[in-house]
Amino acid sequence: MSHPPADPAPLDAAARPDPGPAVADLDTIVSLSKRRGFIFPSSEIYGGINAVWDYGPLGVELKNNVKRAWWRAMVQERDDIVGLDAGILMHPQVWITSGHVGSFSDPLVECGTCHRRYRLDELPGAEDLSATDLRDESIVQRLGLACPADEGPLSPPRRFNLMFKTHMGPVEEDAAVVYLRPETAQGSYVNFKSVQQSSRKKVPFGIAQIGKSFRNEISPGNFVFRMREFEQMEMQYFVRPGEVAAAAFEEWLPARRAWYERYGVEPTRLRFREHASDELAHYAKKAIDVEYRFPFGWKELEGIHNRGDFDLGSHARSSGENLEYFDPATEEHFIPWIVETAAGADRAAFTFLIDAYHEEQVRDEKRVVLRLHPDLAPYKVAVLPLLKKRPEIVELCHRIKADLKKDMMAVYDDTAAIGKLYRRQDEIGTPWCVTVDVDSLEDGAVTIRDRDSMTQERVPAENVKRVILDRMEAARG
Ligand code: ATP
Repeated sequence: MSHPPADPAPLDAAARPDPGPAVADLDTIVSLSKRRGFIFPSSEIYGGINAVWDYGPLGVELKNNVKRAWWRAMVQERDDIVGLDAGILMHPQVWITSGHVGSFSDPLVECGTCHRRYRLDELPGAEDLSATDLRDESIVQRLGLACPADEGPLSPPRRFNLMFKTHMGPVEEDAAVVYLRPETAQGSYVNFKSVQQSSRKKVPFGIAQIGKSFRNEISPGNFVFRMREFEQMEMQYFVRPGEVAAAAFEEWLPARRAWYERYGVEPTRLRFREHASDELAHYAKKAIDVEYRFPFGWKELEGIHNRGDFDLGSHARSSGENLEYFDPATEEHFIPWIVETAAGADRAAFTFLIDAYHEEQVRDEKRVVLRLHPDLAPYKVAVLPLLKKRPEIVELCHRIKADLKKDMMAVYDDTAAIGKLYRRQDEIGTPWCVTVDVDSLEDGAVTIRDRDSMTQERVPAENVKRVILDRMEAARG
């Protein structure tokens, strides 16, 4: 794998002063999302459905761009990682072997009075409990926890399995039970042999996947941070066992952190957090979360895990298939170890949205600007007429826009005065506006206005696309 610059002190971030969130109040982002068409509550005309959100016209562009940026970094720019798109429904034995049927669960407590249910580690006062404490029957009593809604008594914690079940085929019987996948990773494990043989990749190599996952979360919330239906961007890196796997794990840490920074996340609002030994899955050798300083605290953005040989070893034993890799150089057979980078597309898009949000004073007026990286911005360019009553101006606008649309998302708007049109585009993160005015009809030149600096440059109309494409490439670095 490539060797990005090492993080100077990956685990010291917790000791640094809290930088505070980019946006103090989450409602600022929720209302912008609704008002401008990024994210809506699902099935709202029926009162909504808890923990499912729909991406509107701008949100779908943003999320697609996030997924594209991830794919670009993880697949397109590398020679050692290939893609996969496995099914959401899989053979039920996959989830028995993986341990999900037996133990993919969270600690649930229930109020004896109002019967509301909570995930124990999300109750006020229980957020920092160790994994051992979360399994302790007497923990509720020991900490004197009560229902946050009505102060009612809470039950001792019990494990609640997060997988959604459904039935395959026309018979609703136990034998037909299948699960909606709670992670994409298992698709990469069960296809390991097919992918390796068909792509002729040599270890170390990775399989990358983006797709929907489903978890019946006990306490979803914080907008799209924790949903019951969400999208993951996961990469499984197959490596030689032992030291080599441990070294690969360490290399992925700065690489993944660099990806968030490359797309604009403020470095002080990112940190690593290592899982304590009692928090690690029983098979995991090491796990570190990339955390972001959300308005509701430091929370996981992505998990990086050294999973050892658990996955391929278990699937080999359970299926009877030989999932060993033969290394022609050393003539050895071995079960590869897996280093996983597991990110969420929704959580990443949410993070970029929050971190890009800025309010500033411009000539006594508040300007809201989303400083999204141009690769992530829903629209790259807005083409605006200074005078919409002049048909020649409007016609030139449409010509420029039609040419831009061959290569990027561009939009035309003439529904307000120019100042207001600029503010609207600032608020949705459009990096450039192209304005056509009366002079354009004489000299064939138009104005390109930059979102962040608000500087303007006069450019011949026929050069607009080239200039924008060059600026996009420059932003990509
Ligand atoms: P958490 O501790 O927040 O429940 P996790 O450790 O269970 O997360 P993983 O199983 O490692 O999460 O999943 C990888 C990534 O998938 C997470 O870092 C997150 O970005 C995303 N993800 C997981 N669960 C959800 C969810 N319910 N809603 C949105 N994204 C999620």
